[in-house]
Amino acid sequence: MEQARQMLQHHFGYDAFRQGQAQIIEQTLQGQSSLCVMPTGGGKSICYQIPALMLEGLTIVISPLISLMQDQVEALRAANIPAAYINSTLTAQEVDETMQLASAGYLKLLYIAPERLESTTFLQALSSLTVPLIAVDEAHCISQWGHDFRPSYRSIQKLFTLWPQKPTVLALTATATPAVCEDIRQLLSIDEQATVITGFARDNLALTVLIGENKERYIKNYLMKNKQEVGIIYAATRKAVDAIYDMLSRSGEAVAKYHAGLSEELRMAEQERFLKDEARIMVATNAFGMGIDKSNVRFVLHYQMPRNMESYYQEAGRAGRDGLPSACLLLYASGDVQTQRFLIEQTQDEARITQELAKLQTMVDYCHTEGCLQNAILSYFGEEQEEPCGRCSNCNDGRAVTDVTEDAQKVLACVVRMGQKFGKTMVAQVLIGSKNQKIAEFGFARLSTYGILKGQYSSKDVSNFIEFLIAEGLLAVKHGTFPTIYVSAEGKEVLLGNRQVMRKEAVTVKKL
Ligand code: ADP
Ligand code: ZN
Repeated sequence: MEQARQMLQHHFGYDAFRQGQAQIIEQTLQGQSSLCVMPTGGGKSICYQIPALMLEGLTIVISPLISLMQDQVEALRAANIPAAYINSTLTAQEVDETMQLASAGYLKLLYIAPERLESTTFLQALSSLTVPLIAVDEAHCISQWGHDFRPSYRSIQKLFTLWPQKPTVLALTATATPAVCEDIRQLLSIDEQATVITGFARDNLALTVLIGENKERYIKNYLMKNKQEVGIIYAATRKAVDAIYDMLSRSGEAVAKYHAGLSEELRMAEQERFLKDEARIMVATNAFGMGIDKSNVRFVLHYQMPRNMESYYQEAGRAGRDGLPSACLLLYASGDVQTQRFLIEQTQDEARITQELAKLQTMVDYCHTEGCLQNAILSYFGEEQEEPCGRCSNCNDGRAVTDVTEDAQKVLACVVRMGQKFGKTMVAQVLIGSKNQKIAEFGFARLSTYGILKGQYSSKDVSNFIEFLIAEGLLAVKHGTFPTIYVSAEGKEVLLGNRQVMRKEAVTVKKL
């Protein structure tokens, strides 16, 4: 490992390894295949670049992103490390030339797009090389359970039998749940104990969830209060991006925008303006950000909730890459859940819809949890929880905690009486005694729980309270043609009077 440390110092100019790096490098040098789960910016690249320098032969890096490949190869060349890439931007002749360099032993790292592995001729060419290590970047793409499944990633398995000895594999990802990790390990033949998960806690990020804000007003106000700061605003749809962009340009902000509906040229130009600080705000869909390494992003504001926690933390994590205090704000509105639901149902095949909806639900739960937000994220990614972070909006809210057991029992009892076959809006309407025609049709006005929360709360309050009960695991959601709620095992304990329910005072809509 001493030699590895010297390499770190010599080629990269760093004095010490970060958490997890040394262990991964050691395992890799010993020929043990490993899975490395580290957040964006955690320093995954060095985990295979240093072994690549030390091992005899050529390390192959599978990477799905053309722009990322090019950046990495340029950075390596600048550090005097012979590297190249092969992807669809190269001509056949350039591919040949690169392969010749590789066979002559002039390269230490070769980045390859996964689609290449579908070509038998290409595999044949590879088989004549000495390959000690295969690094699989964005390894979650191999799993159907991941949020970005790419069938071509399955071709990586063809590499395992290409040489007399199977190369060591190093799978790397920033966004894998325990189930996805299991899948990656199985598909790439990695031992469970060779998994290294580290550093999801980002000490410089303050996470905030805001419910019930007037979003436009909030954004304008936030930008006014943080005049000098560079930030990204993420929205779920192109239409929303355009609308926010127009609103901010009208008010004189230096703003850029990015989404898949813009021409490639315009997107590049807008991205450039943001990277060069000519525009201080980037308004974008999730199409923006992969492979972007802009260190001085002080805030990432989600105008709408993304479709899952992986996407959220990846996007939010683009704030504060320089380690300075930065803010990640999420503006939640229940209507956005419908938007995401719609997007999921549009773009996914049948088999995945239920699974994606379950992931969406964990995102909704995150927005309604009352515990430390940082810990909610750590636990989602299977990392051990730490002390409450002390920086997030839940750690920092001074609201008093009240006993809401009785109200919880009323809601749960109502769900049971309605046969556990309805969605939360319908349940809320029964609880406040709505005169809605559907309710009359189903005969719900005769239930003892009909109107039991009338006068006390609005239908929206009750909806929020139901979200809270879901986030607490007392109610669960079943995703069918439309989502219905039912009482969980823990919820039954509340009904039986065996369990208390505590809640922070309801959030009041702040007037800015
Ligand atoms: P990831 O691929 O996990 O998103 P990178 O490999 O791009 O992260 O690393 C993020 C940044 O951290 C890079 O600028 C990299 O040079 C830097 N870095 C990596 N390892 C170290 C280290 N041991 N000490 C200091 N900086 C590091
Ligand atoms: Zn916290």
